[in-house]
Amino acid sequence: MKIHEYQAKQILAKHGVPIPAGQVCATADEVCEYAKSLARPVVVKAQVHVGGRGKAGGIKLAKDAEEAREVAKLMLGNKLKGLTVEKVLVEEAVDIRQEYYLGVTIDRAAQRDVIMVSSVGGVDIEEVAEQTPEKIAKLHVDPSMGLQDFQIRQACCAAGLDGVAIPSAQKFLQALYETYEATDASLAEINPLVVTGDGALLAADAKINIDDNALFRQPELADLAEEGEEDEIEAEAHRRGIQYVRLDGNIGVIGNGAGLVMTTLDEVSRAGGRPANFLDIGGGAKAEFVRNALEIVLMDQKVKGVLFNVFGGITRCDEVAKGIVEANSAMDVRLPMVIRLVGTKEQEGRELLASTNLVPATSMQEAAGKIVELTR
Ligand code: GDP
Ligand code: MN
Repeated sequence: MKIHEYQAKQILAKHGVPIPAGQVCATADEVCEYAKSLARPVVVKAQVHVGGRGKAGGIKLAKDAEEAREVAKLMLGNKLKGLTVEKVLVEEAVDIRQEYYLGVTIDRAAQRDVIMVSSVGGVDIEEVAEQTPEKIAKLHVDPSMGLQDFQIRQACCAAGLDGVAIPSAQKFLQALYETYEATDASLAEINPLVVTGDGALLAADAKINIDDNALFRQPELADLAEEGEEDEIEAEAHRRGIQYVRLDGNIGVIGNGAGLVMTTLDEVSRAGGRPANFLDIGGGAKAEFVRNALEIVLMDQKVKGVLFNVFGGITRCDEVAKGIVEANSAMDVRLPMVIRLVGTKEQEGRELLASTNLVPATSMQEAAGKIVELTR
């Protein structure tokens, strides 16, 4: 789960991280009023769940309150990288001498948390990571020991931070790691960690992603989830308890088991098509559930055809076929649907489909080929 910069900063501040004075605002008037109270140049920052806002025009400096109002007017209600800006964070502008990067995430291959430090932070950190990865110092955290002070010093030195900034940077990293652990985050970043003109350090931007699987024990954080930011169809699927992820193609895909569905997506791509979604009906799905799933897939107007790929184990093919046939007639589906059923009660399932306009297939490759052909 993503949270906004202003929310991440509030959490970091609780753990002792210095942040610029600021306030989140929903209207241009509020922005103007707050900027007036600061009585100094401000930065207006779009609060949307995407990175790279600076490059996309979502971070703007304003020399006074009136300019802040104008800048905010251009942002609020408009889209930034496809998302509507509903709030902006107004902060006192920071006098930036240098930008550092601090991050913590999980390194799955190493089965450990990894801390990352760089002296070349800022908006180009992705390019740094790609082109000059040696400029980002990385250190793994032993879960039985926790993050050690010497490791932090080591990382800051390896990253080439300015010697006088190191003691302060250490505190930021310690607090960032503490926050990462306390919030069950999968990623926590301060980028940039700014060295100001007078040598102080400040977190100018912050990002925290929370592990969805930990939300049950993070009720306060779960409350920060904004349904409005989620894709509408995905939100509806989640309300119905269906595992659905929207993609950008036009072939709806439904299967049982995440691995099988992902393989089906690959097969559709290999056959020259583009999947519109991932949808896993799981094991043992009954007819009613299948109808629900099909409804979700068809909510996406881009969908021009649907491929069902069902491997009957616990799931019975006749139950799935019954669901498809019922949904097909009840919803008056006019799109081509290819159904591949194998396994438990396969024969019974096929018989149910025989008297319909649904297209049967025996192998996954054949099914993918057929749906791509029919939606062309
Ligand atoms: P991001 O692009 O979404 O990562 O947004 P950031 O908050 O990191 O802002 C992008 C860039 O804008 C930063 O790297 C800074 O260079 C610049 N920036 C952000 N806040 C300030 C500020 O208060 N003063 C100045 N001069 N630049 C800022
Ligand atoms: Mn940033």
